[in-house]
Amino acid sequence: MQTLPTAPGSAAPMAAFDTTIHRRKTRPVPVGEITIGGGHPVVVQSMINEDTLDIEGSVAAIRRLHELGCEIVRVTVPSMAHAKALATIRETLARTYRPVPIVADVHHNGMKIALEVAKHVDKVRINPGLYVFEKPKGDRTEYTQAEFDEIGQKIRETLEPLVVSLRDQGKSMRIGVNHGSLAERMLFTYGDTPEGMVESALEFIRICESLDFRNLVISLKASRVPVMLAAYRLMVRRMDELGMDYPLHLGVTEAGDGEYGRIKSTAGIGTLLAEGIGDTIRVSLTEAPEKEIPVCYSILQALGLRKTMVEYVACPSCGRTLFNLEEVLHKVREATKHLTGLDIAVMGCIVNGPGEMADADYGYVGKTPGYISLYRGRDEIKKVPEDQGVAELIDLIKQDGRWVDPED
Ligand code: SF4
Repeated sequence: MQTLPTAPGSAAPMAAFDTTIHRRKTRPVPVGEITIGGGHPVVVQSMINEDTLDIEGSVAAIRRLHELGCEIVRVTVPSMAHAKALATIRETLARTYRPVPIVADVHHNGMKIALEVAKHVDKVRINPGLYVFEKPKGDRTEYTQAEFDEIGQKIRETLEPLVVSLRDQGKSMRIGVNHGSLAERMLFTYGDTPEGMVESALEFIRICESLDFRNLVISLKASRVPVMLAAYRLMVRRMDELGMDYPLHLGVTEAGDGEYGRIKSTAGIGTLLAEGIGDTIRVSLTEAPEKEIPVCYSILQALGLRKTMVEYVACPSCGRTLFNLEEVLHKVREATKHLTGLDIAVMGCIVNGPGEMADADYGYVGKTPGYISLYRGRDEIKKVPEDQGVAELIDLIKQDGRWVDPED
């Protein structure tokens, strides 16, 4: 029987911590063969940056992303010609590769374009701030309720045909609010705030619900992480109060590139996912979209939400380290990185290593100078010379029937 650790200064066992992320319960929303929400794994998506009129280039880019694990691909549709091109793109993908779930991004006053593209894609993304675009009046000092309602009515009339089309085809819509493009009437009424973003989404949700359309995914992106966090958290609170269970698409806009772009995206997306918020994610980098996919998967893997690679646990090394940890970790990783689903620990010494391996399946631990110990779970299996360590680790994994040969 396993004994629980005792609290300091007390004989009473400490309560075991619940380390599971309890995901917010959401309704399932279909996007082609993929489902967002409803307890399904968090979906990874990205966006091509080809011009959609370039059919060949767009097909190749969508395929490239999909082969890397991007489950939903977004394309931009700024004109009617772009919307029509989607018919050929979709047909070409199905004929030369396979159907890929596609989302079309519709821009300013895009009602007619949205109606056309809804025939060819699985989901349409609209931006409430731009869908019925009212040019801001520079000299405005107030927004009357009558003016507010008048535009509200115009939005309803403009949105209705799209909602009906998507509803009748069993397709979906993302209501994608951006902090940087809130409508003027929202800015006047709620300010440039998370409240304004949430109310903007709710206005569109209510129109969809009144037409019995609930295949909705909501996003509230901002380029500043604290704003984005506040907006999503407030949205969840408001949806809970209103009995709504729409899944959320998470992202930090204009995150930039390089290390900071990745850290910024992880700070926003990872924080919410850790709170159980979020059903699909997109990391927006100012780099090739292919670079976004590994970041998405790393965030999900680090939080234990999806397991798409080996989880490596390695100590930072210290004066006790008995081998070149960086070099050995690299060797172990190169030999085992294709074994999806395993946890492997590389620890510098026997003193603290075994205790800190965090339930890894296998451990490679410095034993005495020139020797390492191999562990299966918490059991020490054998001591071997360091230069045979990686080969012996592979042998151990093979003995357990958990090895597969890497693909060429
Ligand atoms: S496991 Fe050992 S070598 Fe690694 S940091 Fe801890 S004490 Fe140092």
